[in-house]
Amino acid sequence: MEENCIFCKIADGEIPSKTLYEDDMFRVILDINPASKGHALILTKKHFKNIYEMDNVTASEVFVLAKRMAKAMTEALGCNGFNIVQNNGEVAGQTVFHFHLHLIPRYTNDGIQLNMEGKEAKDYNLDDIQAIILQKMR
Ligand code: AMP
Ligand code: ZN
Repeated sequence: MEENCIFCKIADGEIPSKTLYEDDMFRVILDINPASKGHALILTKKHFKNIYEMDNVTASEVFVLAKRMAKAMTEALGCNGFNIVQNNGEVAGQTVFHFHLHLIPRYTNDGIQLNMEGKEAKDYNLDDIQAIILQKMR
């Protein structure tokens, strides 16, 4: 547990939350400023600042839980689609520096903008980008 980390305190149950699920590794809560009806967060019980710090077991288990939550929430809420979002670093929109996965139910014409407008592929050299990443994946 990290001192002064609000999500450590929520995950631990020290600060109350609208909990949807809990086990040894995770707590799932409703977001306090929901982007849509049912917007929830999967919090790890262990403090990881971001995905870079996370161990492999937690990283794989978090997506198994995300799938289970997405199915249950879609059935319960009757949403028409679902976004799973996870921000790392201030520039990427992270505001709470304790790993969390956003579960965002989507509804027809809900007007939510996730701002992923693509640029032209010619703005980047895709061959160079592929080469530098492939090097790190060896
Ligand atoms: P991010 O910008 O990815 O770091 O997301 C942080 C999310 O945590 C935002 O959607 C906030 O609305 C949410 N949040 C912050 N404090 C709380 C809290 N005490 N309980 C529930 N959700 C919170
Ligand atoms: Zn924490």
